[in-house]
Amino acid sequence: MKTPQVSVGIMSSQVIEFTLNSHYLVKGQEVAGLQSVQIQNGQIVWNNILYDELIFIPIDTDKGSFELKDVTIGVNFHWERKENQTFRGSLLFSIDNNEIAAINILPVEEYLISVISSEMSANASLELLKAHAVISRSWLLAQIQKNKDAVDSKAEPFESPTLTPEERIIWYDREDHLLFDVCADDHCQRYQGITRATNALVRQAVLATEREVLTYNNRICDARYSKCCGGMLEEFSTCWEKSSHPYLVKKRDWTDNENSPNLKDEDQAQKWILGSPDAFCNTKDKVILRQVLNNYDQETTDFYRWEISYSQDEIRALIEKNLGMEFGDIIDLEPVARGVSSRLYKLRIVGSQKTLVLGKELEIRRVLSNSHLYSSAFVVERKNLSNQIPQEFVLKGAGWGHGVGLCQIGAAVMGEKGYSYDEILLHYYVSAQIDKHY
Ligand SMILES: [Zn+2]
Ligand SMILES: [Zn+2]
Repeated sequence: MKTPQVSVGIMSSQVIEFTLNSHYLVKGQEVAGLQSVQIQNGQIVWNNILYDELIFIPIDTDKGSFELKDVTIGVNFHWERKENQTFRGSLLFSIDNNEIAAINILPVEEYLISVISSEMSANASLELLKAHAVISRSWLLAQIQKNKDAVDSKAEPFESPTLTPEERIIWYDREDHLLFDVCADDHCQRYQGITRATNALVRQAVLATEREVLTYNNRICDARYSKCCGGMLEEFSTCWEKSSHPYLVKKRDWTDNENSPNLKDEDQAQKWILGSPDAFCNTKDKVILRQVLNNYDQETTDFYRWEISYSQDEIRALIEKNLGMEFGDIIDLEPVARGVSSRLYKLRIVGSQKTLVLGKELEIRRVLSNSHLYSSAFVVERKNLSNQIPQEFVLKGAGWGHGVGLCQIGAAVMGEKGYSYDEILLHYYVSAQIDKHY
């Protein structure tokens, strides 16, 4: 069967300049070299003629490439800038909100080689890269399927956010695109075509796992992953809506899943977070961390267990800024409900003027930090009480990220210990299976 294609939104602008590095077919003509399109009255102008949509298809699909000028990269990051980028495959122009969108259409496996090369460290082991290739492919094909199904009536959500004066329970999940399957930013997966050299080991990993996806009950899995689970895998509903994913469930990130504590229980959660239980991701080995953390240059290796402290002024200012509400002095941060990995999905912020229950895990991490807290699996120590008001808060926590699905640091350790990619995947996605798709 033919490899499916993916459509990737690269940029949109009023005017787009591009170079066809080889011969392309468009509207029955053969063209090459420097080109430009611009918008006029809601249509695309190319060579003085108006079009609603325009597609350039390479004549030699193996060697054809084109360069887009001034693509913005690192959107909303401190390093945001423009660069020219080169792509294989076809180039489609469509109208998107009074701009022209440049969309790259290419085979799924080629796309995966590019995204995994830019996402993963060049130091990663082959088995870790193969596991990632299967995850990325599963995510992508599920996305393409979703876009095909989008014409069908949308399924009702299982759960709605709560926004009352006493409670703020919200979660963040990716919004889908309408004009194309995925975008080229971190919102989906960062994609830069063939602008930068791809990693030969990544190519090997993608080709070795060609067509393989994770499935459960004949459906492609929603293969979530995070940096470090903290020793126990979290379940889906702690982080997103209350829907059931039998392959994203509680499990020790270890060889032994027996006698695992009930971390929804506050006493057991405290003991877990303050301890250092055995787990694949319980490592400070920089060589292994470097496999997972691209451009890893930090001194800290404390991801499995971490600690952060705030003065009263700092925590008060943070919460006020991040929620846009005044709490007065912060008196306590009380755990209300924890998921199976000890991650909080409800936290009560008790202030001298206001009290609010906050959730779910990402909202808690966002509100209690200038960037994001490593995780919501933490315990709170109130220190230096003055008139019942702590002058310092110390947060001691476990793990990095939501902890649902594959644990990247744990998977890197498993790869080093000699586990194969399918053993790694089936360890994290309990009861899923690996099938060939299309
Ligand atoms: Zn996107
Ligand atoms: Zn882990």
